[in-house]
Amino acid sequence: MDMKTRCIKCNREFEVDTYESSSVKCPLCGKNTVVRTPQQLIAADKAAKFGCLGIIVVIGFVVWGLISCVSSCNAERLANGDLIGAKILCENRINAILKAPSTAKITFKSQDKVGDKSYRFSGYVDAQNSFGVTIRNRFSVEMLYVGNGNYKFEEFNFQ
Ligand SMILES: [Zn+2]
Repeated sequence: MDMKTRCIKCNREFEVDTYESSSVKCPLCGKNTVVRTPQQLIAADKAAKFGCLGIIVVIGFVVWGLISCVSSCNAERLANGDLIGAKILCENRINAILKAPSTAKITFKSQDKVGDKSYRFSGYVDAQNSFGVTIRNRFSVEMLYVGNGNYKFEEFNFQ
């Protein structure tokens, strides 16, 4: 009966004289390998298969985690709005009252979620007036999320 083992380096089968010796040089790739019995090879294959399965399961959990996180974040945003959405509307409203919004540089000093659906922003904006002179205005804004992606300005100070 052929006594075969498989190289741990190149994974090819070759014959051995005995399973007694534990170490042998692989005649196919020339690297040192371990002599494994057929039973050990089957066990190793099983372990490799389960290793793969484990990795697949882990990836599955990560993907599932990401999806459920994204969907719960979306649900949270739909219910209460979010800082980024509120900030964009805040910037839009500031730009709308400027003479030259393309020259505007808005600097936020604070941007906070101050309640379940309330957002507060403050800072200043440097922009040119109708004479082309750069003027600095300060702003403090408080917004309330009213649903459907809409926010209401509770407070809009711009001076
Ligand atoms: Zn080999």
